[in-house]
Amino acid sequence: MKDPDSEKLFDYAHEQLGKRLPTDTFSGGQRSCKGCEGKVFRVIVETHEESEPDNFAGRILSTCVACGEEMDALGVYGAPREAAQTRRVGCKCGSDAFAIAQVVRFDEGFFDNGVIVAGCAKCGKKETLARTE
Ligand SMILES: [Zn+2]
Ligand SMILES: [Zn+2]
Repeated sequence: MKDPDSEKLFDYAHEQLGKRLPTDTFSGGQRSCKGCEGKVFRVIVETHEESEPDNFAGRILSTCVACGEEMDALGVYGAPREAAQTRRVGCKCGSDAFAIAQVVRFDEGFFDNGVIVAGCAKCGKKETLARTE
């Protein structure tokens, strides 16, 4: 399995966040496995009841394709509670292996909004898993 192009994943994340001001800065990183440093995961998105389209509440769980290590991929948003909806992320090409990145945008040093994106490890198609503000 080829290593997904992280550069393109970040480009996509920046597009999703929408650069508005010249003072905007971005920070973030691509997820890698704690066990083997692999960068390809199977992903489950748990959405909680209070989640909103622009302000995700829930968890994004990932399982490393290479070694099977399971992680809370990118933290918990909102209060931890029962998942209202659980979705296994899959690509139209049939693949269920993704690179994941979290990028946040700062306006003059203040957190503005964030996005968690996934890129298919097989065909490269990108998708937005969650937005936070
Ligand atoms: Zn691993
Ligand atoms: Zn795909």
